[in-house]
Amino acid sequence: MTDIFTPEQRSHIMQQIKGKDTKPEMIVRKYLFSKGFRFRVNVKRLPGKPDIALRKYRTAIFIHGCFWHGHEDCKLASHPQTNKEFWEAKIARNKARDIATREKLKAMGWNTMIIWECQLSKVSIRQQTLESIVQILDDTFLKLNQPKKKVVLYQQSETSYSQAAESSSYGNEIANID
Ligand SMILES: [Zn+2]
Repeated sequence: MTDIFTPEQRSHIMQQIKGKDTKPEMIVRKYLFSKGFRFRVNVKRLPGKPDIALRKYRTAIFIHGCFWHGHEDCKLASHPQTNKEFWEAKIARNKARDIATREKLKAMGWNTMIIWECQLSKVSIRQQTLESIVQILDDTFLKLNQPKKKVVLYQQSETSYSQAAESSSYGNEIANID
């Protein structure tokens, strides 16, 4: 059987299978945890089941495989020449789903952060990637906590929201949208 992946993709996949801790999501989780961030993983209650969800930052992080999610201009994302149409269609569907997920999260007041696996697997840029995740989270937190008129509007109807939200741990976040 012909391998559907290029040798580069194949060796990348094999590397990931070897050690759980070298998986891209583990790299991000460990880094964020070491920086004091607390989060949930594989959150089923949110659209797209984010790999990492930070409620306080209202941010969902997805660590995307470059091949499956069609990372543009990326070596790891090149289509196999066999069954080209099949793969192109499949990856196009995944990309459409990713866009829909982002829209759903946005409607709930959540930000979406996409981290590509190549931004983590290349050791030369990994640190920079991790640092920029923290930077974006910090900026988001500041933005969320800026005093603005909308906060007043929210507080007026807080009672009814909090009652409705009691059954769901994300209820507060969902109700707390603009
Ligand atoms: Zn990539």
